[in-house]
Amino acid sequence: MEYFGFEDMDLQQGLLRAISEKGYAEPTPIQELAIPAALAGHDVMGQAQTGTGKTASFGIPILNRIVPGKGLQGLILCPTRELAVQVSEEINSLGIYLSIYTLAVYGGQAITIQFKGLEKNPEIIVATPGRIMDHMNRRSIDLQTLEFIVLDEADEMLDMGFLPDIEKILRNCPKKRQTSLFSATLSERIRNLGKKFMNNPQVFSVSSGECTIAEIQYCFYEVNSQRKLETLCKIIDVKAPASCLIFCRTKRSVGKLAGMLKRYGYSAGALHGDMSQSERDHVMRKFRSNKLSILVATDLAARGLDIDVVSHVINFDLPEAPDIFIHRTGRTGRAGRSGEAITLVDE
Ligand code: AMP
Repeated sequence: MEYFGFEDMDLQQGLLRAISEKGYAEPTPIQELAIPAALAGHDVMGQAQTGTGKTASFGIPILNRIVPGKGLQGLILCPTRELAVQVSEEINSLGIYLSIYTLAVYGGQAITIQFKGLEKNPEIIVATPGRIMDHMNRRSIDLQTLEFIVLDEADEMLDMGFLPDIEKILRNCPKKRQTSLFSATLSERIRNLGKKFMNNPQVFSVSSGECTIAEIQYCFYEVNSQRKLETLCKIIDVKAPASCLIFCRTKRSVGKLAGMLKRYGYSAGALHGDMSQSERDHVMRKFRSNKLSILVATDLAARGLDIDVVSHVINFDLPEAPDIFIHRTGRTGRAGRSGEAITLVDE
């Protein structure tokens, strides 16, 4: 394929400057495919997981065409609040020289704060589906001016039961628009969603071999379920991970394991859906700033999290399906760094 650099993509100077200041020297494979297609006006369906640079691959073409000061033009739907915050931060940082304001709107945050943000007339909103529905019902967000819509981590949103909300939101958006969809898997359900709400999308797929997930070393340990905790501690002691994400299946087991690790003197914290938003933000901040080296989480709470330097992912409980395994282990080895994914397998 012909090589495209960012400078060959007909982007505004301010956008090129932000891209270069963020240190993105070359487009990632999904960016190389999806950005030119979206700039040319096509709907885009991309199979790409977190870590491939997918956020910029839908963010850059939208930012390039949005008119500052013209009100809401772009809506990005994400499965979780953490991802909504992360995506809005990435887009704000890419749009820094364009006078484009991106607001994150998600459940769990006081709606009054969101009203204040909406008063600033964001050109782009990044939101979880439930909260957008809430604003639609209150008439505090008008979707009629939208030109660009993105469904980010569409498979996750469907898994979480957001399909009815998504359909309702899309039915309330103008017909004349550009719709993009990104998903780690392009299952039958995802393709059906695309058929229903997208206009002849160009479909791109990057296999994990082409991802920026350069180097994940996978290994598993067979353990006796009684000695799982002991084995985990041994692994942590031997590997001495700088930054380690441990997955358990339930909120209860996350709380329990994080508590045990703390009692044994490890620098560990928990992340699960029963915690308040401020508790979750607090633990995430500590983990990101390396004040906490171990984060024990449920799949849901850790969805799509972009934590730059996770050196180790440990599956304390086995994931329930292969795609969950991919999502979990994709939290390490990001943006070209190496990582280790360790799975404990009991009887
Ligand atoms: P994402 O898949 O959107 O979660 O992005 C994964 C990480 O890659 C993020 O930390 C991005 O800031 C980073 N990233 C995105 N595009 C590029 C690029 N072209 N070059 C280097 N890093 C990138």
